[in-house]
Amino acid sequence: MGLDLLMPAPAEQFPPPTLRKLRIRLRNWFRKASRPLPWRETRNPYYIWISEVMLQQTTVKAVVPYFDRFVEQFPTVQDLAAASEEDVLRHWEGLGYYSRGRNLRRGAIQICEQHNGMMPTDVGTLQQIPGIGRYTAGAIVSFAYDRGAPILEANTVRVYSRLLGYRDDPRKAAGQRLLWDLAALLPPKTGAGLTNQALMEVGSLVCRPQNPDCPACPLQEFCTAFRLGLQQEIPVAAKRPEITPLVEGAIAVQRQGRFFVRRRSNGERWSGLWDFPRCSVRSLEYATRLSRQALRPVERELTDHLKQDWGLRIALQGDPLQIRHSVTRYRIRLLCYQAEWLSGSIPDGETRWATPEELASLPLSVTARQFADQLKLDTGASR
Ligand code: SF4
Repeated sequence: MGLDLLMPAPAEQFPPPTLRKLRIRLRNWFRKASRPLPWRETRNPYYIWISEVMLQQTTVKAVVPYFDRFVEQFPTVQDLAAASEEDVLRHWEGLGYYSRGRNLRRGAIQICEQHNGMMPTDVGTLQQIPGIGRYTAGAIVSFAYDRGAPILEANTVRVYSRLLGYRDDPRKAAGQRLLWDLAALLPPKTGAGLTNQALMEVGSLVCRPQNPDCPACPLQEFCTAFRLGLQQEIPVAAKRPEITPLVEGAIAVQRQGRFFVRRRSNGERWSGLWDFPRCSVRSLEYATRLSRQALRPVERELTDHLKQDWGLRIALQGDPLQIRHSVTRYRIRLLCYQAEWLSGSIPDGETRWATPEELASLPLSVTARQFADQLKLDTGASR
């Protein structure tokens, strides 16, 4: 029998008088302790939508400058719908999870075509828009229209699990049902936006994953995990994926001051972004020390890759720039080479020769941007 079946339902744990008291505590705390954030100073549903999409998998601190730049560039849903995907991705560059940016634009187009450019006001219709799930729809409805919609995201999963003392995995279906039930119970009919924002803020500032600050928590009196001393055990930690080390190579092929770049296609990671040709390197282990001898077979591999996949003959130049980075469960050591074009023409389609200045305006992956910045420095220095 799952542990959740032994638990009283949220409505039994939180009868109306308890809920009323909890909401008052929460709102009083939020008025004193909450952070001033740009998307909290507006009831504009379009801005709230953008902020909520940006905040998925990304910290508040990282999002603030992106949000400011994005709404300055695309101040209305119509502006976003009229923008090119490339322009949207350029403003998303560095935030990662690029499908979020592509979906925002697709969603804006749908809102213009099907809703006369007005953001829908109910959870069901919002969920028909690309990239808007149950959580984002609830956030828009409660923050912008102050209606009692439930929200459940990473921070509130933790807070609700601890409030209920839920010891099973909250990511499984039974846990999700239970937490959504509590999420529906907590916001009042009026003032739902404030209550939901306060719950998220408690999760962010006080009920942290490790070492929650229970003495400062406005919910302490209502928290089962605190009462039982189980804050560190709840919620059950997700299994961490095994990390795989990889070596990859990227090549900036130069021809008359321009560099060969390609737009990454659908289904590839970072699709829609521009990139230098890159491939995985089999002849070097992740931890091997670089030496001339170790690099020789790598250079053969990269030269062969350019010939076989792109029909270009090249001459690699100098030692590679090394960039270490992580993508999902991969830890990657990227060797970035510069090369001179010798012969061959690039295929038609999503490829081009770009000057360093043109690279500055194309959306690139984080590592391609680092490489492009280095190229700009090098070509500037050699002029
Ligand atoms: Fe989280 Fe502690 Fe507050 Fe419970 S009392 S909600 S564990 S911070």
